[in-house]
Amino acid sequence: MTRAFNFSAGPATLPEAVLREAQAGMLDWNGVGASVVELSHRSAEFIAVAAQAEADLRTLLSIPDDYAVLFVAGGATTQQALLPLNFAAPGQRVDYVLTGHWGKTAIRQATPYADVHLAADAGPGGFSDIPPRAGWSLGADSAYVHITANETIHGVEFRDTPDVGAVPLFADFSSSIASGPLDVSRYGLIYAGAQKNLGPVGISVVIVRRELLGRAGQPRADIFTYASHAARDSMLNTPPTWNWYMLGLTVKWMLDEGGVEEFARRNAAKAALVYAAIDGSGGFYRNPVAPAVRSRMNVPFFLADEVLTARFVAESTAAGLLALKGHKATGGLRASLYNAMPVAGAQALVDFMRDFQQRHG
Ligand SMILES: *Cc1c(COP(=O)(O)O)cnc(C)c1O
Repeated sequence: MTRAFNFSAGPATLPEAVLREAQAGMLDWNGVGASVVELSHRSAEFIAVAAQAEADLRTLLSIPDDYAVLFVAGGATTQQALLPLNFAAPGQRVDYVLTGHWGKTAIRQATPYADVHLAADAGPGGFSDIPPRAGWSLGADSAYVHITANETIHGVEFRDTPDVGAVPLFADFSSSIASGPLDVSRYGLIYAGAQKNLGPVGISVVIVRRELLGRAGQPRADIFTYASHAARDSMLNTPPTWNWYMLGLTVKWMLDEGGVEEFARRNAAKAALVYAAIDGSGGFYRNPVAPAVRSRMNVPFFLADEVLTARFVAESTAAGLLALKGHKATGGLRASLYNAMPVAGAQALVDFMRDFQQRHG
């Protein structure tokens, strides 16, 4: 068996150690005579798995006690719709800083429920930079300010947490959570779909300052209410137990490997390799993003034309470098370098890039 280097943007590569552990327990987990996926979510065994995953995530991200951690079914897009329902009064102003594709999605999901105000828009610049904080137009009466911490498709990442004053800052960390140290206390709410850096798709993590759960929001069903999920330890209904278990294994692996400081080092090393290969290619490869905000997780890059791009995808796949085709919204190529991608994977990619340029440049 050979495992390829998988550069998929999501669902994404998982640590081999996690997959092996899941495999080992698939038929008989921990001697209970059944798989963990076959156990009741109310069983003592699964409750222990769920609690351990939360405890480990709290350790990994240094999450303060005045924050609730929710494990909810669905993806980041689901959370994008729940934000205004839970935290904005009907028609209340909410401020969105738009730095790429996922910011647009967040706006689309919020628009039916709130008065969405575009606080800053990087669209006219082709989403290649983050508009300076000084130019953002924020309302003191806004329910929250929303940013996309890392734009998975456009490859633009906030390197610092912006200061937005007294209005709570909400952030989509789907593709960069646990990629490095994070000061949770600067945020009112952080959400992330698991399938980029935390585990398999189907579950999202929401980290929210408890005090915000007291907001009335707007009329909605209990199942769409974060406070209800928090009050029931995310077991308001049957949670995605398999995904929660896998997320727990992935978080535990990150702790065992040295935690977010170690991943910050590895991710910086991987990103430096790939950006150096692009910038050192004499224009053969291009990345349009301003260097100060280039994503360490997702590196979009472009060749001169479609024919060469298709050839790159075919040849890299044949060489065991998977899923380098760019998103359909941008075309081109993209390398996702999440925590589970080893430095050796980034090295294999840049070796291939240099070889490809020699043959086709
Ligand atoms: C992948 C992604 C999403 C969408 O996640 P779904 O699980 O498909 O809803 C949203 N935001 C960001 C930053 C993403 O990377």
